[in-house]
Amino acid sequence: MVNGTPKTICERCQGTLAPDQEVDLLTGMSLVVYRCINCGRRTRLEKEPRPLTPKPVNRDAPVKSATKPDR
Ligand SMILES: [Zn+2]
Repeated sequence: MVNGTPKTICERCQGTLAPDQEVDLLTGMSLVVYRCINCGRRTRLEKEPRPLTPKPVNRDAPVKSATKPDR
């Protein structure tokens, strides 16, 4: 075995793993995975899925307030 081999080989069939992204529309979470192009085995890269929306945009914030003008 040669050390320094990247983890891009399938454990089952020694096939090539291609990066892929799983998206769960129900929960709105995404997960980066490796998918074997030979047998279809999927290997997780991340331990926990990430939400698709990184930051909730506060659109309800008032842009112009009716307070007194600055001048
Ligand atoms: Zn495989």
